[in-house]
Amino acid sequence: MKRSKKMSRREFVRGTAALGGALAAGALPAGTQPAGAAPASAREAGMPYRTMGNTGLRVSEIGFGGYPIDDPDVILYALDRGINYVDTSNCYRGGASERTIGEALKGRRDRFIVTTKWCPHHVGRPAKKQVFLSQLDASLKRLQTDHVDIVLNHEVGRNSDGHGLERLKNPEILEAFEAARRAGKVRFMGASGHDPDLMDVMHHAVDSGAFSVLLCRYSFLDYPDQDRLIARAAGKGVGFAAMKTLAGAKGADLEKFKDRHVTFRQAALRWVLSNRKVSNLVISINSRKQVDEYAAAADRPLTRADLDILREYAEEFSTQVCRFSGACMEACPEDVRIADILRFSMYYHEYGQENRAVESYARLVASERAAHCLHCSGFCERACAYDLPIRTLLIRAHDTLSDTALAPGPGPREEDPSRGRISEGG
Ligand code: SF4
Repeated sequence: MKRSKKMSRREFVRGTAALGGALAAGALPAGTQPAGAAPASAREAGMPYRTMGNTGLRVSEIGFGGYPIDDPDVILYALDRGINYVDTSNCYRGGASERTIGEALKGRRDRFIVTTKWCPHHVGRPAKKQVFLSQLDASLKRLQTDHVDIVLNHEVGRNSDGHGLERLKNPEILEAFEAARRAGKVRFMGASGHDPDLMDVMHHAVDSGAFSVLLCRYSFLDYPDQDRLIARAAGKGVGFAAMKTLAGAKGADLEKFKDRHVTFRQAALRWVLSNRKVSNLVISINSRKQVDEYAAAADRPLTRADLDILREYAEEFSTQVCRFSGACMEACPEDVRIADILRFSMYYHEYGQENRAVESYARLVASERAAHCLHCSGFCERACAYDLPIRTLLIRAHDTLSDTALAPGPGPREEDPSRGRISEGG
């Protein structure tokens, strides 16, 4: 059954029922006390910390998403605000993210918890142990450190590379991780992704016992499937870091979702952190202003004012934010990578990460692109439970992200950090 165009108050409150109940009872827990391992300045900054599953790592509730970072001083500023968790990848801006973070780590490596990733576009297929290890060595070199705390197998959903479960079951990954762990180059392994089939893949990761940390989308518009995954992960001691926490991050329109004390972003982050089974969240940062705004989100629990802002946002944008349910893709007679293309479009239009969006779209082959949609009646829209105008969104994405319609998919482009206004994300 289709939902109404706008999410009703009843629907939204039902989605946040547990939170609402806790609010009414005044029982929402505040942040945990900082761990002994946390730096003194972090304790003074008031940043709460949580233990990441069975790893024992004490991570700041706000994690530094390193995709856009080009100034190491911003990372140090974040450290002073208590943010000790830094997330990056070997594929972020052609290694520029890791290089910038490496500058910040120099002389203070022990004050950070560092996560990098094995990107599927870099490890190739079939992925071999030696390639994983050489990719990790390259990351360590860029990061100017002898070890990272966590390495994530990146974009593990089937939709990202067509082989989600196969990748997680690849014995070469396990052998590579074990060799790197024994060499002291990494402490824990995890998995990250944001595809329609993500739940299947991530539940497998939880059950396998091989993965200590998950990095997944989670926002006030994504429940309830994620809640079940998070609860299962917590039950098995698997840490859960949340990303894509801003539910589409409709950046151009956020000013109106703000009162004197709370911004939409702060409300969205608090909603995520109000789930005590979440270890922390990762949000893209590239300015001191963002550090201040996000760090402040962690200094108090979710409030009724926060929920009001989120409700307003949901009512405004409910039909514009992809929930990654995947129903549209089953209905599509072509092979259009709908969820991925909508995500790339979000990078472009909402995050200001044009480079990332265009490069990602360029990796798709012609049969996976949205050129098909120009001549289609929109089977995908009829299957969408959230009334997204998918065909219109896809045609816009295709116009924006492709140089020429129906062009065959070129290989990855050379990274050019001067392109794009990389400013914020979620
Ligand atoms: S508009 Fe048609 S071709 Fe395009 S994604 Fe939807 S169903 Fe597939």
